[in-house]
Amino acid sequence: MSLDPEIFQQLLETVRRFVKERLVPHEADVSRSDRVPESIKHEMRDLGLFGLSIPQEFGGLGLTMEEEVRVTFELGRTSPAFRSVFGTNNGIGSQGIVMDGTDEQKRLYLPRLAAGDIISSFALTEPEAGSDAASLRTTARSDGDFYVLNGTKRFITNAPHADLFTVFARTESASRPEGVVTAFLVDARTPGLSLGKIDKKMGQSGSHTCDVIFEDCKVPASAVLGGEEGQGFKTAMKVLDRGRLHISAFCVGVADRLIADSLSYAMQRKQFGQPIAEFQLIQAMLADSRAESYAAKCMVLETARGKDRGDNVSTDAACCKMFASEMVGRVADRAVQIHGGAGYMEEYGIERAYRDVRLFRIYEGTTQIHQILIARNMVKEALAAA
Ligand SMILES: Cc1cc2nc3c(=O)[nH]c(=O)nc-3n(C[C@H](O)[C@H](O)[C@H](O)COP(=O)(O)OP(=O)(O)OC[C@H]3O[C@@H](n4cnc5c(N)ncnc54)[C@H](O)[C@@H]3O)c2cc1C
Repeated sequence: MSLDPEIFQQLLETVRRFVKERLVPHEADVSRSDRVPESIKHEMRDLGLFGLSIPQEFGGLGLTMEEEVRVTFELGRTSPAFRSVFGTNNGIGSQGIVMDGTDEQKRLYLPRLAAGDIISSFALTEPEAGSDAASLRTTARSDGDFYVLNGTKRFITNAPHADLFTVFARTESASRPEGVVTAFLVDARTPGLSLGKIDKKMGQSGSHTCDVIFEDCKVPASAVLGGEEGQGFKTAMKVLDRGRLHISAFCVGVADRLIADSLSYAMQRKQFGQPIAEFQLIQAMLADSRAESYAAKCMVLETARGKDRGDNVSTDAACCKMFASEMVGRVADRAVQIHGGAGYMEEYGIERAYRDVRLFRIYEGTTQIHQILIARNMVKEALAAA
């Protein structure tokens, strides 16, 4: 259900102000200290940022997809590390429960996720199963009223802070010798669950990933997401479908911030006796960035509206993720160029953004996986129409 337009406008303005006045001034600190201050996390809770996409009946704001991407355009105007604090609670860490959870699972987890009282993570990737997620090896052996999990999950966002994991594991099946993929909701304190060292990453300091290891980790049968075995892969793909639009919108926000910073720098930096913004070669970079970001924004908004209408937007959402994540990479590269030597220096924050945005082309499906997905759907549609 969409929010009253006036209330939604107020929310947008509040988020815009929060980003500008509270988050932007902390960017350099968060990058240096590799942590987001607790006071900022409290403010995020008070603003309802942990429950943007969680239905109102469970204490969230229940934004439509269009509303969510419009809020995300604003959130993109600061370091991605801030979004990571509440990103998994809104996206991959909660949407499986929202979409496929039992009534009891929804009642148990969603209000606490929406309030930011617990943090959730999505544990699909493994050391030997990345793009080929369906080949995952983590097992869940049925043992009376319990399942016993064994395996390792890799690069799991927010795992060091998580209270709850959605874990994808292979369960036995009478009809399929390789088993089927089932999703489990696993409390982080369950004996047999341990964490690896926090990964050292190229960028996005302040946001953390690590391995999640399961060694004879015993969970009750009630932990099966949706109460039914074999539905896990479908759930994962549905969750990622929605996540693609969110990430695409975030890429647009980051690009717009970089374009604003580049324009402002180009207007005040003088060489050869005039602002570099007056040089046509600089103007070409600014114009290319603006046009590409605008194109991505239109794609994201149109696809989000389609999703709200109930259209199947799988192909278009993949187009958005592929285009927007590649686009923000080009925009960040041009931002460094426009800033010249300053763009390479830590103090200006542009080199940080350049490193931060590199991730968007890799996680929640690489560019190559999206190319494959888009083309495969095109062939399928053509065959169906023939
Ligand atoms: C910071 C970070 C956070 C992450 N957070 C999470 C998380 O919260 N939860 C989670 O489950 N996972 C998470 N991931 C994992 C992420 O989704 C995977 O890294 C990503 O899907 C790619 O898998 P991979 O790293 O194993 O690369 P690989 O699959 O090994 O790919 C390596 C290269 O091969 C290419 N490739 C693979 N298959 C094909 C093909 N068929 N055709 C052409 N090219 C191909 C890829 O595009 C890529 O260029 C995170 C990763 C990072 C880096």
